[in-house]
Amino acid sequence: MIEIYDLIKKLYPICRSLTGNGNRETLNIIKNIIPINIKEEPSGKNIYDWTVPKEWNIKDAYIKNKKGEKIINFKKHNLHIVNYSLPINKYISFKELKKNLYYLKDKPNWIPYITSYYKETWGFCLSYNDYIKMEEYGDDEEYQVFIDSTLQNGSLTYADLIIRGQTNKEILISTYICHPSMCNDNLSGLCLTTYLAKYLLENKNYYTYRFIFVPETIGSIIYIHNNFDILKKNVIGGYVITHVGDQGEFTYLKTRNENTIIDKITIFILDEMKQKYKIRNFLTCGSDERQYNFPGIDLNIGSIMKTKYTEFAEYHTSGDDLNFISKIALEESLNIYKKCIFLIENNKKYKMNILCEPFLSKYNLISDISGQSYTKHKNGYGIIKKLVYYLDGNNDIIDISKKIDEKYIDIIDNINLLIKNNIII
Ligand code: ZN
Repeated sequence: MIEIYDLIKKLYPICRSLTGNGNRETLNIIKNIIPINIKEEPSGKNIYDWTVPKEWNIKDAYIKNKKGEKIINFKKHNLHIVNYSLPINKYISFKELKKNLYYLKDKPNWIPYITSYYKETWGFCLSYNDYIKMEEYGDDEEYQVFIDSTLQNGSLTYADLIIRGQTNKEILISTYICHPSMCNDNLSGLCLTTYLAKYLLENKNYYTYRFIFVPETIGSIIYIHNNFDILKKNVIGGYVITHVGDQGEFTYLKTRNENTIIDKITIFILDEMKQKYKIRNFLTCGSDERQYNFPGIDLNIGSIMKTKYTEFAEYHTSGDDLNFISKIALEESLNIYKKCIFLIENNKKYKMNILCEPFLSKYNLISDISGQSYTKHKNGYGIIKKLVYYLDGNNDIIDISKKIDEKYIDIIDNINLLIKNNIII
């Protein structure tokens, strides 16, 4: 999907965090595509067991060697800074400096992604290869460390978009905006969600769709807190969208309650696609589904991913870059979400409006010519004949598809014909 990939490329250089101007810039770019409502929650406000953090902003950061060369430079890659680092400007020995350096010995080419949201500190992240080069100069070598950041009372920025349907019942779709320059996690989710919302804006929908763009964890907690009553009343289920850009197999993370309508629909669609896929239990959750499914919240939120977070080497490193994701994978992910939504919209239970078999010729639903059919599909007549036995108000489209072994898309088409002819309600 060229549009999604282009949006990822545009947002990639921006330094995002829990709070700050990078998040506002990101949401304002998204606002040019879909009409989201951008909101601010003030620092210090108590939300359930949490407090809205101070706002963090950063302009520049580097480590300079004795020759005055910037050997680590935030402007080259924003993962070089521990996210939420305090300001600093001083000369220190390598012996002192290395206490605040983070690297991955087993992934020597990549910069790790490190945050310190709730403990005030500072630090730099670098590849192990770069660390070794510094180590060669010894413990007494002096460096200038410079971080031009601010951490002060401000606000936390988030956004939502409600697309009204025929019913007030809602499908909730949430993604997180807090990760800096990494693509699968989570520019893929953020940008796919944007274009999924655009697609639904252009459609007439049965359900109301609530799209949520928040910094992970604290953002979803704030969102639930501020909208608790309406969410509890209207949401029937939904998804957290993340990790949808790599070329791995699909992975479905189930809701906490497991056998919800979202689980049923998603697993059915995955089976129907006849590709290999992975299922993960809720116990392996790690994103905002933790909050949305929490006891007492129970919004029944699953997550369709490509390769799940923590299950690939590039996870939370600079290796998760623009080359790690692909346009084809993004398109596949968008398509599966569209398919699931199509089935959510249509997976209803119907009941016959008449007793005993309908006289199909009367409705032009069967041809007089043997072997022909007036329905769109070759075996449309066959489908209707089988279908009517299960239109008793107890079976949804998925149940019927399994019982009569026909594709859900064909069943929906034929059901629409029966509705048009007032044969079912
Ligand atoms: Zn992450």
